[in-house]
Amino acid sequence: MILRRITEHVKAQNWFAVGLDFLIVVFGVFMGFQVQEWAVERRQRASETIYLDRLHDEVVQLTQDRFQYTTDVRENQLSLSGAIEVLQTQSERHILTDNECDAIAESHIYHQPTADLPTIAELLSTGRLDALQAKGVRTAITRFNQSALRGGDVIDAVNRNILTLARVFPELIQLETVREENTAHGIRSAARCDATAMKANAQFMNTFVDNRDRYAHYAVYAVEPATEKLAMLHGALDTELGIVHDEVEGDE
Ligand SMILES: [Zn+2]
Repeated sequence: MILRRITEHVKAQNWFAVGLDFLIVVFGVFMGFQVQEWAVERRQRASETIYLDRLHDEVVQLTQDRFQYTTDVRENQLSLSGAIEVLQTQSERHILTDNECDAIAESHIYHQPTADLPTIAELLSTGRLDALQAKGVRTAITRFNQSALRGGDVIDAVNRNILTLARVFPELIQLETVREENTAHGIRSAARCDATAMKANAQFMNTFVDNRDRYAHYAVYAVEPATEKLAMLHGALDTELGIVHDEVEGDE
């Protein structure tokens, strides 16, 4: 119909009407494309929201899982600092507490805390991470991933040539098994330490200080940063999805 009208206007040499018809055609085509683009965008947003909802659930779970682990690492660090104070200085305290002795006996343990978020792995493997429109979430995902990767490198480094103090110095640390109902196995190891003999043993002190330094690196550069970035990712997801929590266990 528009074509017939244009032809008539051309025959009548009504160039103004021809120009107007041409503009109508161009505008019509443009609107067609625009409507199509809006539909695609709407579909992408809907699919993105499904991904972000799923990621939020995983982040909440991981935050809870890491909360206890991070708390234990912080407590161990405090216990190791307390032990150093007793063993290295003229402290008035000459006896190690049970927690300090246990922390010394376990000062060679630097596990990789879980950092698995399956939705992020899926977004990365399908190349959809770059296409996320939620820029804040995208940035937070990248930072969390970098932190978890760097943490893995630090853990590899601190695990090289580790020494288990109770094996090398059995006369200074005795391990025994005690029953504890709250643990997964119903038992746990408890250590007994001879603080006076430890102080007098230079080889033990050097090895212990080495373990304590490794533990500090592990806590500060491997465990804490990823936990912190996970909380930031959670915040970005809450903002994007409009979620308000009364209080999330594990959030700080
Ligand atoms: Zn949340």
